[in-house]
Amino acid sequence: MPSFSDFYGLSSSIDSLLDAFSTHTPPHALLIVGNEGVGKCTLAKLLCQAVLCKALHAPCNKCGPCLRVLTGQNRNLIHVSPSGASIRIDAIRDMLDILGLYSIENSDRTVLIENADRMTPQAQNALLKSLEEPSPGTYFVLTAERRTALLPTILSRAALYYLPPWPNDKLLQTLLAGDAQSNEAQAAIKGAGGSIGKAMALLNNPEIARLHQLSDQAVQVLLSNGDPVSLSQEMRNERENAQLLFTLIEEKLPKQANLKQLGSALEKVARARELMQSNVSWQSAIDTILFSLLEDISLG
Ligand SMILES: [Zn+2]
Repeated sequence: MPSFSDFYGLSSSIDSLLDAFSTHTPPHALLIVGNEGVGKCTLAKLLCQAVLCKALHAPCNKCGPCLRVLTGQNRNLIHVSPSGASIRIDAIRDMLDILGLYSIENSDRTVLIENADRMTPQAQNALLKSLEEPSPGTYFVLTAERRTALLPTILSRAALYYLPPWPNDKLLQTLLAGDAQSNEAQAAIKGAGGSIGKAMALLNNPEIARLHQLSDQAVQVLLSNGDPVSLSQEMRNERENAQLLFTLIEEKLPKQANLKQLGSALEKVARARELMQSNVSWQSAIDTILFSLLEDISLG
């Protein structure tokens, strides 16, 4: 998981948000909007941890409240997330009931509403009053992919922060700080599309080595050195890794192809990408790469 400081440098507004929480001057309600996997919920949890942390510069990861957040046992962090497709009014009422109780160890309280855009309109209305008139020491952190799914009344009461996709150099830095091997980290980033969550999932995925091997084989086929038929078979079930495979192939080609081969090989990969986007089957798309050389040869 990325740490609090890992989120610095993504944008100036996120920097100022981190500063505000780090120095115990957070807004009462905020909404973090961003694409899937950019770390919205991780950031939201870290912000809640900073609110509850007893240290001057939060979060310290050492004090009692921090340790309880890290082990998922801090009852002053109330985490609401969708059950099934939505967050229903009952979940919001339960959360408000807990807020109505005395706080534990006289602390501030934090409410993390993950995927708040999946609150039903009734749930949003039930939440509204607490956002309008927050009790002292209660802080709301909401995350959402689609801001427009939230009622204007909710939006008008929460400070809005956009969490952007992560640049590759920052992804790399974060993965390496977490003890990843450089080549594994590089491969994970290529398939991540700016998502720290996806990069970490790919990094911890033993399949990465296999995808490297498959992309190496594809490069050989593209350079007329490999066996397209057996590779086509092996690729059959790799549809969900398509983008990562294409990217790996594109990265590897220039290192192995001569100039004459490179242009036409890259064109084939680009063509396969286009085919995928127009909903052509994965097998046809990958065969476009693997077999077009045979066509070239047989036609020529
Ligand atoms: Zn702490």
